[in-house]
Amino acid sequence: MPNMLEGKVAIVTGAGNGIGREIAIMMAGQGAKVIINDVGASLSGEGLDATPAQQTKAIIAQNGGTSEICTDSVATWASAQKIVQSAMDHFGRIDIVVNNAGILRDQIFHRMTPEEWDAVIAVHLSGSFYVSRAAATHYRAQQSGSYVHMSSTSGLIGNFGQANYSAAKLGIVALSKSIALDMARFGVRSNCIAPFAWSRMTGSIPAETPEQKRRVERIMRMTPDKNAPLAVFLASDAAKDVTGQIFSPRMNEIFIYSQSRPIRGIHRGEGWTPEMIEEYALPALKPAFSALERSGDVFCWDPV
Ligand code: NAD
Repeated sequence: MPNMLEGKVAIVTGAGNGIGREIAIMMAGQGAKVIINDVGASLSGEGLDATPAQQTKAIIAQNGGTSEICTDSVATWASAQKIVQSAMDHFGRIDIVVNNAGILRDQIFHRMTPEEWDAVIAVHLSGSFYVSRAAATHYRAQQSGSYVHMSSTSGLIGNFGQANYSAAKLGIVALSKSIALDMARFGVRSNCIAPFAWSRMTGSIPAETPEQKRRVERIMRMTPDKNAPLAVFLASDAAKDVTGQIFSPRMNEIFIYSQSRPIRGIHRGEGWTPEMIEEYALPALKPAFSALERSGDVFCWDPV
């Protein structure tokens, strides 16, 4: 197999578990030198443990790959700078950033606390900004680089009890698009993956009713490694013309997402009153309304 990432240096955040670990392993297998970044937090973001990162490093070493560990958090400006600096210190450059670190604080909206909101936004949205921004200085100087950010169908489509997470994950889509626009002039690319995987994040999905149990059984067949080939491809020079896009790997399927555009309009020469909107605009626009769907309503067939 050709080494698609030969000579490149990659940072994979949250690479001590789940999807990030599999991406780090495949990137190292494709010739990249990898910084395994992970604080080793619990699912809700508490605690620090270097063991998950060490386990990923051991697997990469067994496969003959090269990696180093950085246990600084993505969630502050200063610590994110250290993550990028560790790539410079160990390997002398940075070519790939995979913003994958994440936590969950699920809560029905009317009970969501400011702490639950802030914690999730800090790791996912601000963390993706901090690490991306720290790498951008180097990307600009060397006139190359790529970003792969983990979004989620919870943001792109919707889900119950995840206002904090959904807002962060759709925010990451806008962050990625903005980076793609601002940094195209430097030969830098930025894309999103909305992954699907059975991991400890999806392990919190309730499996009480027979229907829920069946759903969980389906999801369990989607191992985290199914997301790695797309991340490797997007990070590689083979994807030189791919930027500002959103993809989903779902077991053996790959999807590309639409991005918001006006889909129907109505014009009135004299302008609008609220009453006129009710009378004319609402009936005209209603056929184009989006259904109040969750991810599972859209992905309504078994993963194949
Ligand atoms: P996971 O919980 O298995 O792994 C996430 C890792 O991030 C953990 O090892 C954790 O220690 C680390 N982390 C947490 N906070 C950190 C911080 N501040 N700095 C550095 N590392 C930190 O999760 P996963 O299921 O593999 O998910 C990976 C990414 O994919 C996340 O961004 C998640 O939102 C996204 N995602 C996952 C799924 C899925 O089906 N599993 C679906 C949609 C999106």
